[in-house]
Amino acid sequence: MVDFKNNIHAFEDKSNTDLFRAWILFKTISNPIISKILTKLLQIALLFHLPITFLIKISIFKHFCGGENIEECKKTIDKLWDSRIGSILDYSAEGKESENDFKQVYEQGMKILETSKNNEKIPFIVFKLTGLIQFKILHKINNNQMLNDEEQKIYNSFINRINLICEQAQIINTPVFIDAEESWIQGAIDKIVLALMKKYNQKQVLVYNTLQMYRNDRLMYLDKIIDTARRERFKLGFKLVRGAYHEKEIERAKEKGYKIPVHLKKGDTDKDFNKSLEICLNNIDLISICSGTHNIKSSEYLISLIKEKGLENNDKRIFSSQLLGMSDNISYNLAKEGYNVSKYVPYGPVREVIPYLIRRAEENRSITGQMGRELQNIITEQNRRKRG
Ligand SMILES: Cc1cc2nc3c(=O)[nH]c(=O)nc-3n(C[C@H](O)[C@H](O)[C@H](O)COP(=O)(O)OP(=O)(O)OC[C@H]3O[C@@H](n4cnc5c(N)ncnc54)[C@H](O)[C@@H]3O)c2cc1C
Repeated sequence: MVDFKNNIHAFEDKSNTDLFRAWILFKTISNPIISKILTKLLQIALLFHLPITFLIKISIFKHFCGGENIEECKKTIDKLWDSRIGSILDYSAEGKESENDFKQVYEQGMKILETSKNNEKIPFIVFKLTGLIQFKILHKINNNQMLNDEEQKIYNSFINRINLICEQAQIINTPVFIDAEESWIQGAIDKIVLALMKKYNQKQVLVYNTLQMYRNDRLMYLDKIIDTARRERFKLGFKLVRGAYHEKEIERAKEKGYKIPVHLKKGDTDKDFNKSLEICLNNIDLISICSGTHNIKSSEYLISLIKEKGLENNDKRIFSSQLLGMSDNISYNLAKEGYNVSKYVPYGPVREVIPYLIRRAEENRSITGQMGRELQNIITEQNRRKRG
């Protein structure tokens, strides 16, 4: 079994100063009141264009992001690769609405592909579909509503861009992850990604959809899509996650009066996440996976499944992934034992990345949040170093 408590490996490329900076950051955002004030400040800075980007850049941005552009990320990419951890560059511009913004996300995607050509340090590229098309159009498609002429034109151009990305990805052999989003547009995303999987996953897995296992219908969906793929002879790729919009999902369902689509007990999400790992590993001839989690028990469960099935640690169909600046104890210890590991490396102009940073700070406020874990690991390592 991999020892996820081994902080020596987890922090081997962090100096005492790095650790101290991380300690200050997590100590600050671990305090619910300060964290609330900080996220409000970030929102205000975003709204009123306050000139505090420099402050953000040397603090929270430095910890969670690779840089403002791909060039700036190269140091992080190299450093991670020294420990055999790949980077998934994630251009983190969110909530975009204009054609110019979508074009920019598309162009960044093409640049990432160029950078990943013959470059094992960048094993995947990733997209949020709402970075490439308006949310409201995906919402209409989700609800089987007709698009007007203008929307149809935008939709066609979006489909064209996604296909260009997949074609390029296929040429250079870099698989594409599509992130999962809110349940009220996820049906549209699933439909689009299914069509891409049918088209590009004929021989090997190029396109991965994301399954949020906090959803109470995802195991059923997984079973159904396995049947479809076996019948229609294409391969499946899934990034498995628990899901990032838990509170929002519950709030909206209550407000609009429909059945809550997510589990209400953390234990049920955990059970479904582990079950999805099991189902995928039972169908490993068909499915490639990326286990996107910071949860130690699920990471241990994946390892036990790999062993049970007699697969190699570095079986190319199985990856684990964590976010940059989080759960290094999982990433570094898995990589040390030869498992395939990658980190999401978000990048973009500081202002654009603020919503992502707010989410990282907010996670602290949920009872099961990450920061307690992160802070604990940092303190344990600091104490170990003090003791020599
Ligand atoms: C590489 C990577 C890629 C990701 N991509 C996506 C993505 O495309 N889309 C997306 O939505 N998220 C994505 N996430 C975020 C992910 O969904 C989780 O929010 C985050 O990783 C925390 O879950 P965990 O498995 O790490 O561990 P844990 O900390 O063990 O679990 C926390 C999660 O449990 C669930 N949960 C919390 N409370 C309850 C409750 N009361 N009842 C039921 N469930 C509860 C929530 O999903 C919460 O996020 C990604 C994460 C990673 C590491």
